[in-house]
Amino acid sequence: METKNLVSSFYKYVKIENPAVLQKEIFQLCESMGLEGRILLGEEGINGSVYGAEDKINLFKESLRNNILLSDIEFKESETEKIAFRKLFVRIRKEVVHSGLKVNLENTADFVTPKQLKEMLDKNEEIVLVDMRNDYEAKIGRFRNAVTLSMRNFRDLPKVISEIENLKEKKIVTYCTGGIRCEKSSAYLKENGFENVMQLKGGILKFGEEYPDTYWEGKCFVFDDRLAIDLNKKNKDTLNNCAWCSKPCDDYTNCHNLDCDRLFICCEECKEPNNKSCCGGCKSSPKRRKEFNEIGNQLTT
Ligand SMILES: [Zn+2]
Ligand SMILES: [Zn+2]
Repeated sequence: METKNLVSSFYKYVKIENPAVLQKEIFQLCESMGLEGRILLGEEGINGSVYGAEDKINLFKESLRNNILLSDIEFKESETEKIAFRKLFVRIRKEVVHSGLKVNLENTADFVTPKQLKEMLDKNEEIVLVDMRNDYEAKIGRFRNAVTLSMRNFRDLPKVISEIENLKEKKIVTYCTGGIRCEKSSAYLKENGFENVMQLKGGILKFGEEYPDTYWEGKCFVFDDRLAIDLNKKNKDTLNNCAWCSKPCDDYTNCHNLDCDRLFICCEECKEPNNKSCCGGCKSSPKRRKEFNEIGNQLTT
């Protein structure tokens, strides 16, 4: 029987008194089942993705939910044929998504479920979708007519907030990959004069599970070795073009010149002939990345 591999993502903001204890438990649990992934833990909560065989992922979810603090944690799943993670990291962090935002999480915006958002869009309601992700994420996929921000890192939100000054009185629905960035960023918007803010529950991933081929265009960037996944089953329109041959393409490659390390769009056929590099200069550079498409160090949520 062929085993199906899944990536399961999850987060929860919850007070964890002693993250080190949970860190050890989760690490041993994943290790014993051969799961790889990246999990961040802190006193403010947990955020992570795990990758492995479906039955092992299910056991992992069950074990996590057995922890009283995490009994209602929600998972977003995607089936994958590509390797998503090659290592296991379970780390302790002050913030489980680095934002640097000094916000009160009690001010987080009300949730809109994928179903509610779908209905609002079907009815042409006057809402503005605001993409809370980084610019390179939105470049390869976003909700139709969404407003995107020019930030390279989530922690730059305060610097780019002026780009959406004009939306302060509008009805806004924020979204991000799995929902976690919106918990703080929606609170930040509310604390900075935005009057009518809501956030998409479960993010793009949940919406894509429930309503593929509706309002999403392009691919969904993910912070693992896959770099992007398809949300749509049929409508696989591309928003960009290969840097080398200009054919329609939304696939990122991390330039294999380690001094460059830039994400660029490159089709499958152009990778090898161009030494997995973004330009002529990088193509001949001797400092090369290892074979796999690992995410460059400069990329963080
Ligand atoms: Zn090409
Ligand atoms: Zn390069």
